[in-house]
Amino acid sequence: MTANTDKTTLSRRDFLARGSGALVSLSLGAGCSGGGMGPDVSVPPPPSPGDRVDVIVVGAGLAGLVAAYELARAGHDVRVLEARNAAGGRVQTLREPFNDGLIAESGPARIPPDHDRTLGYIDHFGIETSPFYTQDGEYLIVPERGDRYRETPDVFLGGGRDTWLKIPTGTDALPIAFAEALGDRVRYGSPVTRVVRDEAGVVASYGTGDAAGELRGGHLICTVPLPVIDKIVFDPILSAAKRAAFEATSYQDVTRVYVQYAERNWEEDGLNGWGLSFVGGFSEMWHPTWNQPGPRGVLMSYMYGAMARTVAAMEPGAIVPDFIDRFDGLFPGSREVAERGTHFAWEHQPWIGAAYTRNDPPFAEHPELASPEGPIHFAGEHASVERGWMQGALQSGLRAASEIDATVTGERARTTVAISRRRMAHRVTGALHTPEWLAP
Ligand SMILES: Cc1cc2nc3c(=O)[nH]c(=O)nc-3n(C[C@H](O)[C@H](O)[C@H](O)COP(=O)(O)OP(=O)(O)OC[C@H]3O[C@@H](n4cnc5c(N)ncnc54)[C@H](O)[C@@H]3O)c2cc1C
Repeated sequence: MTANTDKTTLSRRDFLARGSGALVSLSLGAGCSGGGMGPDVSVPPPPSPGDRVDVIVVGAGLAGLVAAYELARAGHDVRVLEARNAAGGRVQTLREPFNDGLIAESGPARIPPDHDRTLGYIDHFGIETSPFYTQDGEYLIVPERGDRYRETPDVFLGGGRDTWLKIPTGTDALPIAFAEALGDRVRYGSPVTRVVRDEAGVVASYGTGDAAGELRGGHLICTVPLPVIDKIVFDPILSAAKRAAFEATSYQDVTRVYVQYAERNWEEDGLNGWGLSFVGGFSEMWHPTWNQPGPRGVLMSYMYGAMARTVAAMEPGAIVPDFIDRFDGLFPGSREVAERGTHFAWEHQPWIGAAYTRNDPPFAEHPELASPEGPIHFAGEHASVERGWMQGALQSGLRAASEIDATVTGERARTTVAISRRRMAHRVTGALHTPEWLAP
């Protein structure tokens, strides 16, 4: 492990606790896998609950969680308001309705080895990774016209995909680790409905009826995906440039359908359950359980755009039977061992509304997506150059946290990224790649 000689300087600073006016010395980011000790994932205990905090974060997806985590570690009093009853946003691992502990992902699953933020936090929390794709069996390609054919792993995974990783216990291990560290700082079932700016900062109204409340803060970070941002009234209204950037941003629709099989009989034919189809639009076939134990297996169809919308609009009870037939056309005989299934359409998720931003137009054409408006800061994968990736969500959250931290320290932003400076080994290939220091 490369020694990080700068860590102490980067990880410790005096922080003016504005609430009390006292100068408190906080130890930040110490203990990251150095000297044989485990990573320090602790944050200071939250101050007693009040109706005013330093920073309000809207949304407990990865952008909001990383911002809250690093700000809390830097000594800021932070609260996260999350509409749903769980953390993670688009990071959702499906465990139902599968048997034998099998899992599949409805959202993020693949992690390229150069995604230093994603892998850095995975490492920081001590979460295991494993190869995403299998090197066994053949991949099936179904062209729009002409005969289907097979590709070896070497060909199919060319271009570096053989080094992509996953979290074998489920991608949700990452947001769960952040949320556990944040503890009571995250308030679930608290959709924000109104954000008002005043001389003292910002007031967020959340919830309805008996669960309604108000929280005052010096700053607010909005990480809400743009398809559902209209559920929040901003007073005063956001700038014309910001609203134009929202309008210009386009999203991808994704629907996934999963079928569980009593046995993986496609393997008898030398196929591994993975592949691509160009019939009726582009879609991917995944076998997410390829390295999970047991005879059972789950096949998944990953559909984009018009195809995703068409399937999302089908009568829900008809979707799995229809895909048992479709998979049987690809892997003959699979119908006989099909057991159960489910589907997941991102356009139907009330607090997200679509899968992820497209690069059409790219973020570079609308940097206003990320610019603060007074005490309101903006994060989320849409406000990053790594759109559609966890890496982008994490980058954007760190950037917003740094903006706020800089207003307190009066220095150039230097919010600590509590990651050990590790050799980010390409654990699949054995190649070593050392990223730059992971501070924003
Ligand atoms: C199908 C799919 C496949 C993907 N594949 C990959 C992959 O293989 N690898 C990878 O790295 N990335 C992948 N991604 C991208 C990755 O999941 C996202 O970039 C990242 O999770 C987005 O995080 P976020 O914090 O920006 O947004 P979100 O995770 O959407 O978080 C926003 C949060 O805000 C909450 N919210 C919304 N409105 C309100 C409100 N009014 N008040 C309070 N809370 C609110 C939501 O409930 C949500 O929790 C994929 C995404 C999808 C959907």
